[in-house]
Amino acid sequence: MNIYITLDYELYFGEKHGTVYKCIIFPTNELIKIAEKYNVRFTFFIDAGFLLKLDEFRSKYPTLEEDYKAVTEQIKYLSETGHDIQLHIHPHWEDSYYNGLNWIFDLKRYKLVDFNEIEIEDIVAKYKKVLTDLTGKKIFAYRAGGWCLQPFGKLKSAFIKNEISFDSSVFKNGFYTSNHYSYDFRSAPDKDLYRFEEEPEIENTIGYFTELPISAIKNSPLFFWKLFLLGRKNPYLHKPLGDGIAMPAPGQRKKMLSRYTNCTVCIDGYNAKLLQKALMQLQKKKFKQMVVIGHPKALSRYSIQKLEEFVNKNCNKNNFTTFTKNF
Ligand SMILES: [Zn+2]
Repeated sequence: MNIYITLDYELYFGEKHGTVYKCIIFPTNELIKIAEKYNVRFTFFIDAGFLLKLDEFRSKYPTLEEDYKAVTEQIKYLSETGHDIQLHIHPHWEDSYYNGLNWIFDLKRYKLVDFNEIEIEDIVAKYKKVLTDLTGKKIFAYRAGGWCLQPFGKLKSAFIKNEISFDSSVFKNGFYTSNHYSYDFRSAPDKDLYRFEEEPEIENTIGYFTELPISAIKNSPLFFWKLFLLGRKNPYLHKPLGDGIAMPAPGQRKKMLSRYTNCTVCIDGYNAKLLQKALMQLQKKKFKQMVVIGHPKALSRYSIQKLEEFVNKNCNKNNFTTFTKNF
């Protein structure tokens, strides 16, 4: 099995965005320790809009200058030591600013498709460029902010122009719509790798784009109840390392606590408990690719332990790899 541990490298976008140190730097350093101990490498989808905003405001605010240095140095270190740096777009940075104390987010245009096609092209080009300039390496893979990349027809030409030919935003059976979010992957093929042209959930064997979907697993409501209760019982182990608050996703918690849901294979918090089970399920389906998602901000001490156990158990039997190494 090719196993891709992928991390969306970003702050929180809810009421409280949290600090760069706790949401990004510290948890990423914990991941680096595991990577170096077992000689495996991970893929980081960098929230490039954040880097651009930091750059825009850093001359005015010394604390942002420090944040800018910390993240750009960490990204360079990751890239130089063989981790993969790829593109993650949260375009609401376009409408956000720093007030001297906090980032003020305007989430009205949360999805890239909320912008017009000229704006989209500009965003994709400049967000990609900041990562190319930083790493000197080819950026060709994408993870959509909040998994929102439909209707993809609106993004297609900007992606082709910027040679973004890989996507890893789809997960089988995922669907959700709210004020901010909108995605529906229910009709996506049940495959671990396929090509597409117009829409990422519709296979096209001669399409320009390759989809490497995030692996998905069916999850019982009992699992989420346990997660909920454990978090209260042992916050040291189960509390997220990041110090922010997630954007509201109305109805999602209720859905998870009341019925079977299809979830991404994930290393955030208690989800990391399911890594080995997910691997076995995917092997049974004869899949060759396993894509695990995570967020440094949402890792917990527990999930870091579980990730280490998983890597330790599988690093000789399976191939921990990255987008750049494998494609
Ligand atoms: Zn994100």
